[in-house]
Amino acid sequence: MDKVSIHWFRRDLRLDDNPSLQFAAQNGAVTPIFILDTVNNTQKEFNLGEASAWWLHHSLKSLNESLDKKINFFKGDPLEIIENIINDYDVESFSWNRCYSPWEIKRDTKIKSFLKDKDINVKTFNSSLLWEPWEILKDDDTPYKVFSPFYRKGCLKKHAGPRQVVESNQNLEPNNQKISDKSIDELELLAKFPWHDKLIEHWNIGENAAMEKYMNFSKEGLNGYKDGRNFPSYPNVSVLSPHLHFGEISPHQIWYHDKTKSAPDRDVLHFHSELGWREFSYYLIYHFPDMCTDNLNKKFDKFPWGQNDDFLKAWQEGKTGYPIVDAGMRQLWQTGYMHNRVRMIVASFLVKNLLIDWRKGLEWFNDCLCDADLANNTASWQWTAGSGADAAPYFRIFNPILQGKKFDPDGDYTKHFVPELKNFPSKYLFAPWEAEEEVFTEAGIDYGKDYPKPIVSIEESRDIALKAYDKIKG
Ligand code: FAD
Repeated sequence: MDKVSIHWFRRDLRLDDNPSLQFAAQNGAVTPIFILDTVNNTQKEFNLGEASAWWLHHSLKSLNESLDKKINFFKGDPLEIIENIINDYDVESFSWNRCYSPWEIKRDTKIKSFLKDKDINVKTFNSSLLWEPWEILKDDDTPYKVFSPFYRKGCLKKHAGPRQVVESNQNLEPNNQKISDKSIDELELLAKFPWHDKLIEHWNIGENAAMEKYMNFSKEGLNGYKDGRNFPSYPNVSVLSPHLHFGEISPHQIWYHDKTKSAPDRDVLHFHSELGWREFSYYLIYHFPDMCTDNLNKKFDKFPWGQNDDFLKAWQEGKTGYPIVDAGMRQLWQTGYMHNRVRMIVASFLVKNLLIDWRKGLEWFNDCLCDADLANNTASWQWTAGSGADAAPYFRIFNPILQGKKFDPDGDYTKHFVPELKNFPSKYLFAPWEAEEEVFTEAGIDYGKDYPKPIVSIEESRDIALKAYDKIKG
């Protein structure tokens, strides 16, 4: 029996800058495996949402093509599967790149110690974070809870820079011997109802597509990022989030490439600080794993969240009567993505104007976003709700009318996703109820029928939210 060197692909679906794959290649013929874990992530907050599962399906197809269709696919309990592999094959080494969700850490710790007990050369690597969460601590050895000192003092100043990009594995010749005959289709990642078919027109998936998108952004979008990133119709965001989530590109590749390029420092530094927010989210769920399900700030455990399924449905369907909110929710539904500024607006609207628990919003995002990411999603929802680390204070409530006017002044974004308002004058676009009847007639809109009237009043719902907050302020 030939010796095999196993690389376990997880959220590192690339050949370049892949430390574990590189290690495996040094130990002999690489046998790449992928396991769809159906056992350890039982909590619904941690489940693979339908849009992410769709992405994963296509990303695996692309990676498998790059590896001559030599990836071995499995589905089930990773520990059991790995136990079978080491019983059946002569395993020289076993390696993977680290994941950081609490349930993954628990699972991987168990598997690592199992492999060690079996005398297998097991190694794990950093591949997806610029700084390991346990490396960054305050002077008193406790974790940071505020972004700025975490990033500036903890990450940028205190430690050496992120690890360098490792050598490419593009020429890797994987082991011809297959150890599983399961196909990607047999992982059953695609939802039975093919709603996801519409997503394909918005995305190119896989390592090559990720690099191409990044290169284009670096040439055309990075210049002007600091200001332009706030405007949803501007081409100044990278839209790399699903690629980063699945590891089709690493933050290290981006970090070191940006440093050699010609965009102004202010834009590069700001772009890197957004990668820093990604680091901070991972850092938080590493140090405070309960926050994936519970309020980080326990004061919020007593918050009197409302229960209104009609409001929740109107929000999910983009029918709240607030055009910028509806545009965002429809962008999410149609494309599996939403611009960051609009994510903040729709999330604030859900938790503050509709008084709906942030966990309901997180669940919907988790199902609909191609970039659904336990760390970023949890930290961002808690940030918006006011219950998280370094959170937006609860009393800061985004006003969807002012936000729309400021960040989508010509209404290009809003009209694109809410086409029934395409002929509506910009002056009234974000507060249609202020328009006279003839404005609707001229725009050909039957108000209340073609486009809904607001489901709540902004002023009243704001007052109710502030009173609710007063009750827990303490
Ligand atoms: P760019 O502006 O081009 O930024 C580059 C990368 O930096 C992003 O791809 C992302 O990895 C990271 N990044 C940027 N902004 C943030 C941020 N505020 N927090 C953390 N990382 C950031 N991001 C996710 O990746 N997955 C999620 O599930 C997710 N859920 C969110 C939920 C809410 C309520 C909010 C307000 C934000 C959420 N975000 C999430 C963060 C952010 O909106 C997205 O990362 C960003 O919009 C992705 O677009 P981009 O790639 O064009 O970003």
